[in-house]
Amino acid sequence: MAGGMEKVGRTEEGAVAGLSAERRERFSRQMRFAPIGEKGQLALFRSRVLIAGVGSLGCALAQHMARAGVGSIVLADRDYVEWSNLQRQMLFDEEDARQCLPKAVAAVEKLRRVDSGLAAEAVVADLTAPGVLEKAAAGCDLVLDGTDNAEVRLRLSDWCFAHGVPLLYGGVAGASGMSAPLVPGATCCLRCLIGGEEEQESGETCDTVGMLSPAVELVAALQAAEALKWLSGSRSDMRRTLATASVWPLSLRELKLPGPTRTCPACGEAGQAQRGGSGAGELSRSGSRKAEAAREARGPAMEASSARSEPQAAAPVDAAFKPRKTAALSAVLCGRDTVQVELSEPQPLDVYRRQLEAAGCAVMRNPYLLRAELPDEGARLVVFPDGRVLVQGAGDPDEALRVCERYLPVS
Ligand SMILES: [Zn+2]
Repeated sequence: MAGGMEKVGRTEEGAVAGLSAERRERFSRQMRFAPIGEKGQLALFRSRVLIAGVGSLGCALAQHMARAGVGSIVLADRDYVEWSNLQRQMLFDEEDARQCLPKAVAAVEKLRRVDSGLAAEAVVADLTAPGVLEKAAAGCDLVLDGTDNAEVRLRLSDWCFAHGVPLLYGGVAGASGMSAPLVPGATCCLRCLIGGEEEQESGETCDTVGMLSPAVELVAALQAAEALKWLSGSRSDMRRTLATASVWPLSLRELKLPGPTRTCPACGEAGQAQRGGSGAGELSRSGSRKAEAAREARGPAMEASSARSEPQAAAPVDAAFKPRKTAALSAVLCGRDTVQVELSEPQPLDVYRRQLEAAGCAVMRNPYLLRAELPDEGARLVVFPDGRVLVQGAGDPDEALRVCERYLPVS
């Protein structure tokens, strides 16, 4: 159900004991790749990852992780499948859109068809709500960023750096995107890379500049490759760069990531002391690498990593991926004219259903949500059991709150 975990599938029994003939055949081409081999494959079976956001990037990341044999995958998303998603969100189809399935639920169903031995969990909730991220990320070996706004990303970064878990950051808009593996103890955190929430002003999103599916796949591939290196045990092979890529026109460049910022509460010495010195990324095991990271932390935020690259500052590079501004209790989602409103005392969905039908709304209900077409507003309400309401077509947060007060009165 929404807000909770839905556990399906079963844990890979061969994860500890070894490989069955079927599993050996299934993963033969990946094991033949020398850096992974059988040892790396067994490590992948034992791994657990959180995919935060199951939109375009999240769908691609989920496929890569499931097909590679990652044993346990948690998929967290607050949204449901719509027709405008089908152009680039590769796990979903028309039937998912017709049924208004939550993206996390629809994704888990598809992944079960890819690998019936996969343990996959759907979390239908907002990762910024209290306790949701902590529960979803518990026990994960790494977190893959499939989100579309800085508020969630910064929370992911804070959690990851507090727990010594790598965050594979990624973002796409238009035909280009970027990706960076942020590893506690080895690199800076996301706050040090892009600045805090107060510095994130409204910018280009898929709502304003669109999004091409090949750009999504390219960025997801950059993230997924680092995930395979980390999970299979080839951690020293991971890149320590912010990669920016475009498919139209074609370009790919890397900028060296700064090391931990000494004074940062998340990635600096204070944060590491809080973790008791444990969980530091294995990238920084050698003394020379630590010295290199320290030099970078003292130097400019970003520097060119190859002779062909142009030195660039981090902030302008990220300008295309800044979130919409949020109003009190509300947030505008990427990709459409939608405001999210939080109900302070949510009622059972059937209570709202009766109210909305009495008000003349056409109501559709599935096990995860309720959707109502408002008769004279030209707007639509989508209500989740955790008290979240997506108001579509309302225009602005004030109008969305007015619509909620009119149609979802607290009885
Ligand atoms: Zn930091």
